[in-house]
Amino acid sequence: MNTIPSENLKHHQNFTVASISLLASNPPKLVSGPLSAIFRSGSGFPELQFFLEPDGQHSLNFDLRTTQLFRLGEFQSLCVSEGSETVKERTYSKGITIQFKEEEESRSFHGAFEQWKHKVVIQGSTLPNGTVSSCKSKFDDKIEASSAKMYFHYYGQLLHQQNMLQDYVRTGSYYAAVIENAADFAGRVVVDVGAGSGILSLFAAQAGAKHVYAVEASEMAAYAQKLIAGNPILGQRITVIKGKVEDVELPEKADILISEPMGTLLVNERMLESYVIARDRFLVPNGKMFPTVGRIHMAPFSDEYLYVEIANKSLFWQQQNYYGVDLTALHGTAFQGYFSQPVVDAFDPRLLVAPAVFHVINFTTVKEEDLYEIDIPLKFTASVGTRIHGLACWFDVLFNGSTVQRWLTTAPGAPTTHWYQLRCVLSQPIYVMPGQEITGHLHMIAHSAQSYTINLTMSAKMWGPGAEQGGILQTSSCRLDLKEPYYRMSQPQAYSVGQDQQSNQLLQSQDLQLPSLDEDGSDFIQPPNDSGAQIL
Ligand code: SAH
Repeated sequence: MNTIPSENLKHHQNFTVASISLLASNPPKLVSGPLSAIFRSGSGFPELQFFLEPDGQHSLNFDLRTTQLFRLGEFQSLCVSEGSETVKERTYSKGITIQFKEEEESRSFHGAFEQWKHKVVIQGSTLPNGTVSSCKSKFDDKIEASSAKMYFHYYGQLLHQQNMLQDYVRTGSYYAAVIENAADFAGRVVVDVGAGSGILSLFAAQAGAKHVYAVEASEMAAYAQKLIAGNPILGQRITVIKGKVEDVELPEKADILISEPMGTLLVNERMLESYVIARDRFLVPNGKMFPTVGRIHMAPFSDEYLYVEIANKSLFWQQQNYYGVDLTALHGTAFQGYFSQPVVDAFDPRLLVAPAVFHVINFTTVKEEDLYEIDIPLKFTASVGTRIHGLACWFDVLFNGSTVQRWLTTAPGAPTTHWYQLRCVLSQPIYVMPGQEITGHLHMIAHSAQSYTINLTMSAKMWGPGAEQGGILQTSSCRLDLKEPYYRMSQPQAYSVGQDQQSNQLLQSQDLQLPSLDEDGSDFIQPPNDSGAQIL
């Protein structure tokens, strides 16, 4: 791998070059060597320094943020800068050609240049060892490179950060949680895990943080730096570091972590694992975490409209004469395919047919590995007699501040967030009577595309006389991929690559005959009457 041992990156890295020519003078002035060149982050930003004399008294400095390096040949390179903070010609372009003695030296110089320029983004203060380690990280071990590429490309775009910032329930809750608990931030060292635009770092600085390290892996790090530089009073206490929290090194431990790592159903994107890794790497013992705890809530729901809508999507494949072709061989597969997509939308809480249960994830104590597989036993008591179409899920998180405890909730009926709610729909609904017990499991297994495979089983227990024997009357199960949700609304949503897959979802079913009973049990496809909603 063309990377530099992290030891070398920590403070500085030395090279020897054969000579340099200063292009600003006419003719170019040759400075013969051997000359010493040093990469360092000594002035609050990464820089490259050439010592023009052996005594080290005269040097030529390049601010790497505005410097480019081009290879002119095997032994020669061109180094140009748009300006410099260390010499007078601030508005002028500065350039030199560098002569190397060996090709190998030239190659490692270029490698070091890329590392120092791109991996370390530093703003506002000196960070002697705020840098990245070069070994393959825990993140890379478990996440497919293609998934990570798409993921960080998505978050590197300002429009998606704007979408989150414009979720006022979300951002307002963070703001209130931080400002109300300023005592937890004042004079403290903070790490912002996945800083995005840097908004939470700025909130922490507003609350009086001594210093905030804003760690962001995507290209958004550069925009965060710009935003922070545009707020200099706060920004002087914030250092943006581009890299994954799994990889970067920080110069000091944090008293408190702040992060917004929640995906659909809390766990989508697998960023909670990064939050936990950041805790283990950066947080002092008994340090605080904002948010502190997350809860996944679950309740059975009844929604005939939704069920019919999903079942009808596969009607297309019931055509026996599609340009002379019988499509029915694929109907069963299409039917199951539609039911393998969790539905994301905001629903009326009156669709819930039993009091919800919840599963707690304590971010301060959970082990990273505990998030690889999550198994939640389910037990409900039906409030009404109805057909249950599946399991509705949502989450909330707690900011356990010393002054105020604040919850951010995505519950149905509460002000809608960009996470909405999530519903797993069973292809075989279950019939229950009031008071009947419903049991089951929500089993989630993390996969390398930064999401989870969900296995849901729901069973209706025997009801009435003989119920004590605990017999199961009906069982229905389904497997879903949390990475491929069906967004049932048109507003912007939380991160998903499947967002543009919903076109044409309003079925071309008008011309199709309704199917007769089929092997998938999708016999019920009549439009529902208005009694579908059930009161809790
Ligand atoms: N904190 C911002 C952004 C939240 S979105 C806000 O509240 O508005 C999550 C951000 O975390 C994204 O910008 C994403 O690129 C970043 N991120 C995700 N995993 C990361 C990791 N392992 N290391 C560093 N950044 C990460």
